[in-house]
Amino acid sequence: MRRLRQIAVTTAVVGVLCVPAHAETRDIGRDTLAADDGWAAYGTGTTGGAAADDAHVFTVTDRAGLVRALDGGSDTPKIIRIAGTVDADTDDDGDHLDCADYATDGYLLRKYLTAYDPRTWGAARPSGPQEEARQASAAKQAERVVLTVGSNTTIVGLGKGAVLKGASLQVRNADNVILRNLDLRDAYDCFPVWQPNTGGLGDWKTAYDNIWLSGATHVWVDHITASDRGHPDSAEPTYFARNYLRHDGLLDITNASDLVTVSWSRFADHDKAMLIGSGDTATGDRGRLRVTLHHNQFESVVQRAPRVRFGQVHVYDNRYVVPDGGEYRYSLGVSTESAVYAENNSFHTPGHVEAADLVKSWNGTALHQTGTLFNGWPVDLLAIYDAYNSGSERDLTADVGWTPTLHGKIDSAGTADREVARGAGAGRML
Ligand code: CA
Repeated sequence: MRRLRQIAVTTAVVGVLCVPAHAETRDIGRDTLAADDGWAAYGTGTTGGAAADDAHVFTVTDRAGLVRALDGGSDTPKIIRIAGTVDADTDDDGDHLDCADYATDGYLLRKYLTAYDPRTWGAARPSGPQEEARQASAAKQAERVVLTVGSNTTIVGLGKGAVLKGASLQVRNADNVILRNLDLRDAYDCFPVWQPNTGGLGDWKTAYDNIWLSGATHVWVDHITASDRGHPDSAEPTYFARNYLRHDGLLDITNASDLVTVSWSRFADHDKAMLIGSGDTATGDRGRLRVTLHHNQFESVVQRAPRVRFGQVHVYDNRYVVPDGGEYRYSLGVSTESAVYAENNSFHTPGHVEAADLVKSWNGTALHQTGTLFNGWPVDLLAIYDAYNSGSERDLTADVGWTPTLHGKIDSAGTADREVARGAGAGRML
């Protein structure tokens, strides 16, 4: 009896001492975006589910709970807190589903590869029994892993260890969404499709982005970690002379999405990290795709950090880490009608990656950049780009036609580099 009482007293004391000492126990579910924090603050701003009544505040620990809380993408204000690890590849009983569980109608990778080998099949798009079986199998996986997020929704990780595995969070034609403090891991496609390319190598095309914003407005992504953790594409085999990719984007922003702020997040261990604008002919994106990226870390990313078409994109105080040994193509992709305003970003690269490699243009015309640090040294990415690419692509001009006004304090690249290294990503909220 005495012992029991002692334990109770001790617990109470620990509780009182610990709560103020650990800031991560603060309820971040009702936080809203600051009034000047990037493009998502424009107009009505971004409040997510802050207006939720008590009946629409959920703590979920598995896929079934998360699906219930998401409520089919309804626009009822709601706050969803994810506790621990939620695996999207699970059945309604919570049992894990692997690729063999989704495979149906006789789909077998071995048979698929035999059927559509370009040396015998040629350059036509796959069709017939194995492609139909692949589509049916893929639909079964999509039914589990695609999670639709509706308007007026906040999803946050609880504490330091919240993980959402295998999911593709999709905000489609919705407004006012906040995603924070969450480790989004391994949006793995069991059933990539072969896309032949007449006259050259084709590509394996995969279905899932960790986060996909399509026709989404007022979205704040903050302290997210997005990666392929567990299943690196570099470990996948080569079929038809191409890497059998399993992952699409980490965060893709397409189809006239607009007014997005991505802050203090970490994008890692991935090929194509962030696509803003999906096509040169998507002229409905003109005047939209306005995005702010600040204090993010792009680490072990091969390309697209980001690649931009059409949008006015403010890229400031980000940290780029290109490790030795990994594949690397470029970081900032400047494409059709893009207007990237880059300030005070820092790049760390191994010796064989040069400053001229950091920017790539396809049909781009302009890039504003100031305050760039390259392995600790100030560089002018624009002058370097124009000096190195005069033969192949036209020069980029510094006039992107706009000057960002919605932003917090812009740190020097050196200061931001240190703070991002310490503070970006899930589980690192101060
Ligand atoms: Ca995508």
